[in-house]
Amino acid sequence: MTIAVYPGTFDPVHYGHIDIARRAAALFGELVVAVYDRPSKQILFPTAERVAMCREAFADLPNVRVSAYRGLTVDFARQVGAQLIVRGLRALSDFEFEFHMALMNKKLAPDIEFVCLMTSLEYAYLSATTLKEIAFLGGDICSLAPAHVQAALRRRFESASDAEVPLLSMSTMRD
Ligand code: ADP
Repeated sequence: MTIAVYPGTFDPVHYGHIDIARRAAALFGELVVAVYDRPSKQILFPTAERVAMCREAFADLPNVRVSAYRGLTVDFARQVGAQLIVRGLRALSDFEFEFHMALMNKKLAPDIEFVCLMTSLEYAYLSATTLKEIAFLGGDICSLAPAHVQAALRRRFESASDAEVPLLSMSTMRD
């Protein structure tokens, strides 16, 4: 059986991620959604919450499981017996980053393949950063993330101070 790992920060999981994961789950025997524990970028939700939101988002897919990981993605992929790593591609800027990562990972683990699925058109401009900013500013995020993620963002921002706005805007150039 082909096992694929879909790694990411998922801070929080949104419809762009879900679309890629669902399409990957239809292609491969098992998909492990791997939530990176210690991203270098600023994160809003702790790992346990990011994992819980992913679990709820994929609860209806029997061949998808969600796990947190730390360390090298290729090491995690080997641990779970995966033959390939799946990533999503939106714009040209994603391509450069993913290309660089894929080549470096290939050097570290020549036995593991990298597969990029193109975003669906309706999610081409969706990123976790955009989602968080719109949520923080009180915009409508119904078409961007599932209800449980919308609720988590609302809860999180009810207690947020204004000082967090610039943190969000600068959190990452690409996510
Ligand atoms: P990372 O910090 O590893 O980039 P993200 O959670 O931002 O983690 O993204 C995980 C994966 O999902 C990446 O491959 C990213 O390119 C992809 N992705 C994010 N948003 C979208 C989207 N709207 N459409 C398709 N793929 C996406």
